[in-house]
Amino acid sequence: MIYQDTLKFAESLDAQDELKAFRNEFLIPQHDGKDAVYLCGNSLGLQPVSAHKYLTTQLNSWKDLAVEGWFQGENPWLSFHQQLKKPLTDLTGARSEEITVMNSLTVNLHLMFVSFYKPTNKRYKILMEGGAFPSDQYAVESQVAFHGFEPGKAIIELYPREGEYALRTDDIISAIEQNAQELALVLFGGVNYYTGQLFDMAAIAKAAHNAGAYAGFDLAHAVGNVPLKLHEWDADFACWCSYKYMNSGPGGISGIFVHEKHFDNPQLQRFAGWWGYRADKRFLMAPGFDPARGAEGWQVSTSPILLMAVHKAALDVFEKAGGLDKLRDKSILLTAYLEHLVQQINRKHGEQLFMIITPANPDERGCQLSIVCKRDGKAIFNYLGQNGVIGDWREPDVIRLSPVPLYNSFKDVYEAARHLEDALVGSG
Ligand SMILES: *Cc1c(COP(=O)(O)O)cnc(C)c1O
Repeated sequence: MIYQDTLKFAESLDAQDELKAFRNEFLIPQHDGKDAVYLCGNSLGLQPVSAHKYLTTQLNSWKDLAVEGWFQGENPWLSFHQQLKKPLTDLTGARSEEITVMNSLTVNLHLMFVSFYKPTNKRYKILMEGGAFPSDQYAVESQVAFHGFEPGKAIIELYPREGEYALRTDDIISAIEQNAQELALVLFGGVNYYTGQLFDMAAIAKAAHNAGAYAGFDLAHAVGNVPLKLHEWDADFACWCSYKYMNSGPGGISGIFVHEKHFDNPQLQRFAGWWGYRADKRFLMAPGFDPARGAEGWQVSTSPILLMAVHKAALDVFEKAGGLDKLRDKSILLTAYLEHLVQQINRKHGEQLFMIITPANPDERGCQLSIVCKRDGKAIFNYLGQNGVIGDWREPDVIRLSPVPLYNSFKDVYEAARHLEDALVGSG
């Protein structure tokens, strides 16, 4: 498509957009009496209008039924998580038994490590992307230390080549091959939070398995953003949070994936709790842990129904939109439009004031563009905020902007770029 940098053009794209009505399913924050330009779905997705109703329904069940709510009402709480499965399998490319929702993300990473990081003196290393999300770094360091290894020796962090911002898949694979004898686990993000790079998870999982290691993925920035095929890609495990592109509320419930090939492996240990017990016998309260088959066998604690209610509201919007296929098509256009407009600012000014470090190939990125500001970055970011453009700032000089196809418009993207250009003067 040939993009133009006029409001009229942006509005014409919106007029043709089959998904434009979905914006009305969300509560858009206000700025000066108008919708803010919210491009921060990478950090916290917007509230679905329906969340209030879904939550109220459960509050009413609690009011009216109290403890009986576990077994009665429209959606008895005991099996409430089952209703999340269809939309989640659509978004993750998992089989129904391979996923469940529980806890929050970093906690689930730790629980997955219990099962999939079993270091020996020979095979103890973890290979991960350099500059992974800090919580993942801390989790991995503490896991390694917990098993008595030195993080400095056991953790291999891969960085892009000198002068590059994205990791090359070939480089990831050769690093896995080079460390094949000692690798216990390859842990990668689906999409890197800082650069917005989407990794080739199938290739990474394959290389990890060829090396005799497990492959796990943190999908915090990938799920609800890019299509996933976890089963087909042969990931051993994955986890994600639901409050970024899945719009399920601050601190919303997390999810896990465990590949079905592990269901019958008695060697896999786990930290157990009663909610992971086979559902048909859970309330016999018998001694000895007898796990539910599949990912549900990793559940630990009682379902947080209020979080699940909001999650359900948000996932139903994805189902209504027909899953991720059309959303992804729109997402590619939205992000490409933003990219075009940012490059246009550079061209007009005859210098690269804004350097996009996210890969230019749509197959290697999701919604997000990470934009390095060559100067006055913080002032430019503040200017955006003052003008109702909500993105986020990552030290030392990066602005992340993520147009989300469910609720952002081409006009949002146009406005964001216009303010970005004005900021060059305004912040000066
Ligand atoms: C957002 C994010 C987290 C946050 O984890 P919580 O346990 O939900 O606080 C962790 N890892 C990655 C990669 C993230 O993007």
